[in-house]
Amino acid sequence: MDAAEFRRRGKEMVDYMADYLENIEQRPVYPDVEPGYLRSLIPSEAPLEPDNYDDIIKDVERIIMPGVTHWHSPNFFAYFPSASSYPAMLADMLCGAIGCIGFSWAASPACTELETVMLDWLGKMLKLPEHFIAGTHGRGGGVIQAHSSVERASLIGGIMMRKVPTDNTYAVGGGMLKKMLEEDKAAGLIPFYFCATLGTTPSCAFDHITELGPICNEENMWMHIDAAYAGSAFICPEFRPLLNGVEFADSFNFNPHKWLLVNFDCSAMWVKKREDIIGAFKVEPLYLKHENQESGLVTDYRHWQIPLGRRFRSLKMWFVFRMYGLQGLQAHIRKQVALAKEFESLVRADKRFEICAEVVMGLVCFRLKGSNDLNQLLLKRITNSREIHLVPCQLSGLFVIRLAICSRSTDSCHIQHAWRHITQLSCELLQDNH
Ligand SMILES: *Cc1c(COP(=O)(O)O)cnc(C)c1O
Repeated sequence: MDAAEFRRRGKEMVDYMADYLENIEQRPVYPDVEPGYLRSLIPSEAPLEPDNYDDIIKDVERIIMPGVTHWHSPNFFAYFPSASSYPAMLADMLCGAIGCIGFSWAASPACTELETVMLDWLGKMLKLPEHFIAGTHGRGGGVIQAHSSVERASLIGGIMMRKVPTDNTYAVGGGMLKKMLEEDKAAGLIPFYFCATLGTTPSCAFDHITELGPICNEENMWMHIDAAYAGSAFICPEFRPLLNGVEFADSFNFNPHKWLLVNFDCSAMWVKKREDIIGAFKVEPLYLKHENQESGLVTDYRHWQIPLGRRFRSLKMWFVFRMYGLQGLQAHIRKQVALAKEFESLVRADKRFEICAEVVMGLVCFRLKGSNDLNQLLLKRITNSREIHLVPCQLSGLFVIRLAICSRSTDSCHIQHAWRHITQLSCELLQDNH
C-alpha cells in the first residue's frame, strides 16, 4: 500500500467507522456465535502471496463483526463503560503515524512531555492535592499505566494478600482495617500496602478513605486508591467530596478510558513521590542512556513502569480535553448519572424488583425479589435475547443484575426500552415458573 492508496483507504475507513457507530443499534449487541466460530472461517495459515485489500474489508463484515460484542451500542449495559469519542480515535490515528516508542525523554520528547502535562491537567480537573502534580519542580507526578488487578500483582510478587471485609454498604471502614492489622502483626506479619477502592466494580461502593488514610500513614503502609471507574466523576464538584482523603494516599489511579471519553487504553496514575517508583524499577543499559537525563529536568517514563515501550497515548487526552472542555466532560458524566437515576426509579416503582446498592453514579444493581435461581434465569433470558447486554454480580450472597450506563449515545429512550424489555422477560419468566 503506497501513500496514494493509504489516503483513499483511510477516507473509506473513517466512513466505515462513522457508519458503524451511527448504525450500531441495528446490530445485536451480543454476538450469536459459538466458541471457535472464527477458525473455521479463515485459512489455517497466513497467505504466502499478498491478499487484496477489498477482500480484507469484506471479511471484516463476514468474519469479524458477527463475533463482536458491541460495547458502544446504546443497548450495552455490561461491566463498566469503555470510553469512546471521535477526537480520541483521530488522535490514535496520529499516534499510529508518529509511531514512536516513548520509553525515555530522548526517545521522543513530545511523547513524554505531553503526557506529564496532560496528567497535570487531569489532576487539576480532579483537584488532586498539589503533591501529585509534577509542574516544573514537583516531586510527584502522573503517568499513563497499564492498569491491572491488585490481586494479580500480589500473585506475581509472591505476597500474601488479605481482603478486608466490607460493611453493609459494601465499603471498607477504618475499624475493620485496624482489626486486621492487629491480627496480622500479632501473627508476625508486616503489613506494608493497602489498596482502597472508590467505586468498586460490583456495586460502585466507596471505601471510607478519610478513616483508612490516617491508619495507613500511621502504620507506614503504602496507600493506593483505585478509582478506575468513579474517578472520572470527580471532575464534577458535586462528586469531588467522595475523593476527600486522597491526600493520605501515596498513589492514586483511575481510568479515563472508562468514563472520560478517551478510548482504551488510558489508565492515569499519580504518585506522591516519584522517587519511590523510579527507584523500584530502575534498569539502565547503555543504549538507553541519553545526555539530558542527568539534568534532573527530564522524565524517563520507562522507570515508572514494568514494560519498556509505551505509545503516545497522551495525544488522545489532549484532543479530547480540548474538544470537550471541562464543561463538556462534566456534562457527559452528569447525563449518564441522570440516566442511571432514571433507571433506578423505574425499578423502584415496580414492587417485584429491589434495588440492591445505593445508586451514586452510573451503575444500578437490582434483582427480582426471589431466589438467586430466578434472577439467574432472568439474566440468561436477557443475554439470549441479544437486545440488551448486562452482567451480574454477587452482593451478600445474592445474585444481582448490574446495569451500567456505558455508551456515549445511550439516551432516555434506551433506558425506557431496556426496562420494558426486562419487565417483559420477567413477566414471561414469572408466568413460566408458576
Ligand atoms: C475496571 C476496574 C479495574 C481494571 O482496570 P483496567 O485498567 O482496565 O485493568 C480495576 N479496578 C476497578 C475498581 C475497576 O472497576
